[in-house]
Amino acid sequence: MDTIQITLPDGATREVPKGTTAADIARQISPRLAKEALVARTNGDLIDLSRPLDHDTKLAILTAKDPEAVQVFRHSAAHLLAAAVMELYPNVKLGIGPPIETGFFYEFVRDEPFTSEDLAKIEAKMRELASKDVPNERKLIPKPEALELYRRQNQEFKCELVEEKADEPMVSFYTTGKFIDFCRGPHIPSTGRIKAFKLMSVAGAYWKGKESNPQMQRIYGACFIDQKELDDYLHRLEEAKKRDHRKVGKELELFTVSDQVGSGLPLWLPKGATIRRLLEEYILEREREAGYQHVYTPDMAKVDLYKRSGHWEHYHEDMFPPMELETEDLVLRPMNCPHHILVYESKKRSYRDLPIRIAELGTMYRYERSGVLSGLSRVRAMTLNDAHIFCTPEQIKDEFAGVMKLVERAYRDLGITQYSYRLSLRDKGPSDKYVANDEMWDLAENLLREAMNSLGLPYTEAPGEAAFYGPKLDIQLADVMGHQETYSTIQIDFHLPNQFELSYIGADGREHRPVIIHRGVISTMERMASYLIELYGGAFPAWLAPVQVAILPITERQNVYAAEVMKKLLAAGIRVELDERNEKVQAKIRDAQLQKIPYMLVIGGKEVDAGTVAVRHRSKGDQGPRPLDQFLADLKSEVDSKAIT
Ligand SMILES: [Zn+2]
Ligand SMILES: [Zn+2]
Repeated sequence: MDTIQITLPDGATREVPKGTTAADIARQISPRLAKEALVARTNGDLIDLSRPLDHDTKLAILTAKDPEAVQVFRHSAAHLLAAAVMELYPNVKLGIGPPIETGFFYEFVRDEPFTSEDLAKIEAKMRELASKDVPNERKLIPKPEALELYRRQNQEFKCELVEEKADEPMVSFYTTGKFIDFCRGPHIPSTGRIKAFKLMSVAGAYWKGKESNPQMQRIYGACFIDQKELDDYLHRLEEAKKRDHRKVGKELELFTVSDQVGSGLPLWLPKGATIRRLLEEYILEREREAGYQHVYTPDMAKVDLYKRSGHWEHYHEDMFPPMELETEDLVLRPMNCPHHILVYESKKRSYRDLPIRIAELGTMYRYERSGVLSGLSRVRAMTLNDAHIFCTPEQIKDEFAGVMKLVERAYRDLGITQYSYRLSLRDKGPSDKYVANDEMWDLAENLLREAMNSLGLPYTEAPGEAAFYGPKLDIQLADVMGHQETYSTIQIDFHLPNQFELSYIGADGREHRPVIIHRGVISTMERMASYLIELYGGAFPAWLAPVQVAILPITERQNVYAAEVMKKLLAAGIRVELDERNEKVQAKIRDAQLQKIPYMLVIGGKEVDAGTVAVRHRSKGDQGPRPLDQFLADLKSEVDSKAIT
């Protein structure tokens, strides 16, 4: 009999008969491994545990400890969903069903929308199929037969997928009971292990993400290996919902969105505007200290400017369409760089002037698709804490370190602690997403790596995330659910200086080309505000709170003294509200708590007589009476030190 040699991850080898499966080997190793095994890896490829092995190979048997195996598990749950849907609604058309970070989705075309009752029915059907422990079996079908099968079932999207993706004469399918699906696999052996799942929502999505394509209904499910993980996830999700900036923004009257203004164009209400103004003043001050010069430039420019910068070629799908005005074609700016370059160009520069750091709270406009717009976090008009540093190549390292210092200081003052560094690189291979100049890209990438290494900071690398003109160092913040997004960024750019033929006169009296460092420290005001709202759940530290103190007289008799207290606090620059309503003080306290105002000053007859205030903190409760001047001094020091309480 033919034998083959299997090499396990620890280097041990086994001679086994040809046709042995990974499941067989798992059983030989231990009953426990056999039970926990989800999928196998041979020479780098994931395969079903039941696939017969027919040549010498390296073999790893993967369990839930392996993230790739968990993705296979979740993908199998997507098949289970489709199987359940096809049993209940045999006429739906199928799209795709991949795993996602916390579960899976499958997309369907059905005339009626799936309701929450439908989801409950589907979930029950999934549990029924799971409890039968139906095997997931791989089946090879000749391509013409596969197409015929799907044509008979009117599965036009599946036909499209088979046409596009099946590049061999035999096409791989998987069956789960009566359900059959075109799929490369692999899958977990059977449905029995899929227990910890929950169907979460239905969302519209275009077939293949293209707006000209038909609309599908995506059913999303959360899915984990065990129930505890699922429960933890659902709990975190509940917490995140409570902190959702759209919900908190409404409750605390921070911002609003009006249909009459348009999608993705939020209005900042007075309290939200206060937070924004505090953020703006804060960063302008830090930048002044760090040697930046602030400018104002217009929100629009001629299209030709963006043709010269390259934005038009590489970025125009994300821009608003141009406006024709007299003889000019104007467009809302998607980035501030070209304007700042023209500021640099406004006079001759010498090496003695460099580095020149030009900063602006620059408002920009981007065509975000309506499907992704959300509150303040994804908008179409946004104001970026932007700057462009024009420097010599020798100055890059120090300037980079200077920006990093600014970022770290800002994060500390804002109370941001969950972040990581990502080096965003271009995709290798041909692409019109990026300007072509290999030498320039390599140089900029290496400079960024060196700068990070010399600061001793850990980072990951992300191909495909670069700006069109160069690589960047992104600082990723994690939200309540652990999702990471870029907030701060530093980019080294050799491209735009060339496009605009920028120069400075060097010590040798000749013209040289400067480098541009693009950087954003606290992101756009919109995104940072949304992040901070969720980070604090609306309970901002005193220095950022839109209202820092609520004055709560117990009866009308204290109104005069209360008004004096308010006057004094206002004169000291404190943001304060006086609650003169004819309400019980308990009700006033409750409302101030709901507004998450850091301090409440309760004023009764005793306080009036003694010239004190009874201090209450929103989370620490009653602090007892204090002379007004003492309270004011304490609050000022809390605000000045930007204490996070
Ligand atoms: Zn599949
Ligand atoms: Zn820029």
